[in-house]
Amino acid sequence: SDECATDGGTDGLNEVEAMDKEYVFGTWSYQKEVSPTEMVDSEGVYFTDARGERRLDFSGQLMCANLGYSADRVADAMAEQARRGPYFAPSMTTENRARLGKHLADITPGELSKTFFSTSGTEAVEAAIKIARLYTGKHKIVSRYRSYHGATYGSISVTGDPRRLMAEPGIPGTIKAPDPYAYGSTLDPMESLEYIGEMLMLEGDTVAAVLVEPVVGSNGILVPPKEYLPRLKEIAHDHGALLIADEVMAGFGRTGEWFGCDVFDVAPDIMTMAKGLTGAYAPLGATVVTGEIAAHFEENMFCHGHTYAGHPVAVAAGRAAVETYIEDDLIDHARSVGDYLGDRLDELAEDHPSVGETRGVGLFRGVELTKRSDRREPFGHRKDKISTGKTVVDEVSGEAWDDGVYLANMINTLIIAPPLVISEDEIDEAVAVLDDALRHSD
Ligand code: PLP
Repeated sequence: SDECATDGGTDGLNEVEAMDKEYVFGTWSYQKEVSPTEMVDSEGVYFTDARGERRLDFSGQLMCANLGYSADRVADAMAEQARRGPYFAPSMTTENRARLGKHLADITPGELSKTFFSTSGTEAVEAAIKIARLYTGKHKIVSRYRSYHGATYGSISVTGDPRRLMAEPGIPGTIKAPDPYAYGSTLDPMESLEYIGEMLMLEGDTVAAVLVEPVVGSNGILVPPKEYLPRLKEIAHDHGALLIADEVMAGFGRTGEWFGCDVFDVAPDIMTMAKGLTGAYAPLGATVVTGEIAAHFEENMFCHGHTYAGHPVAVAAGRAAVETYIEDDLIDHARSVGDYLGDRLDELAEDHPSVGETRGVGLFRGVELTKRSDRREPFGHRKDKISTGKTVVDEVSGEAWDDGVYLANMINTLIIAPPLVISEDEIDEAVAVLDDALRHSD
């Protein structure tokens, strides 16, 4: 196996890539299909591989690189903290952690005011589930089918998409509800919401929380009607359940607002975040709760934590990232270039029969592909992704990759979520490549 790792690579892989393939267990994959590309550089909204190929990042990597690749303020803050003190136990603090906590209280809506730090989105969701259960004294969590909340056991159990299937039966007490998916579901979004009310009634006051992505991310960029989330909060509260908003993907300017909830003027009881929290410069998760929920834990033990909860270098990145969003006016920028992006994608929908629908808000957009747009017939079903690993949508992403644009997808939807610093010219460049790639699915 050493030979394989060092002989210059197999299948066109270079030495580093072959070594990586040999020794690193890939995520979410058949290992035989893992084919890592070595990256060596990045700038602005572009990243460059070891062969000198530069690509425009039209999806912000895993919808997390909200600040692009040249946020020196964040890199400098991390380096400075690493030199001053790379790590202190969570019972000690740094100015960065305290100030980031205060920033999050300031930028989140409503009464959200106190933050539990972790290192990833899935941990932020795990903490939210535990907090909701301990606070309400109930154990069930209602979430929706078209959702992703993370890969650890609690989070994958509340996840609705096919990624949960291999982890089932998961943790007890998780119940799935229908989605606000006007294009692809037989239920009207507002009807699906009333159905959730009926579910809560039938569960008879045993539900701790309803957990939703305010704008659904990897399951297809689903934006609910304006009145959906406020009504969902009402329904949850009527049944003694909390509303948890999972903002891991929708947060930090992605929608043209600080948080997805702000698009709908709703304040949840608990908010989870990660990804854009540091603009992808460091792994950091956060679970923000209201003062009322925080007060409960003054006298009740919160028996939960991680060695690297609020790691000093990660919170230095988080603080500098939030200050960068503010000082560089990136939320407003995302809103205005987001409108432009939406218009450009709508043009594609007119030109390509395989584009069933374009939808989204801000710089959070989905292009759903269909065999025949008039029949809404998907190229692949959700389970195909698990059973075959490849869909036509993957081929469109592959074409774009070859032509210099990175474009993530999930099931039948291309997910467009570029760094918030993207310009209109860069949007034009990426849309031109996508326009070409779509001829492949038409
Ligand atoms: N929640 C949402 C809405 C997500 O999109 C994701 C990841 O894509 C997660 C949670 C899990 O985050 P992480 O991969 O950082 O654990």
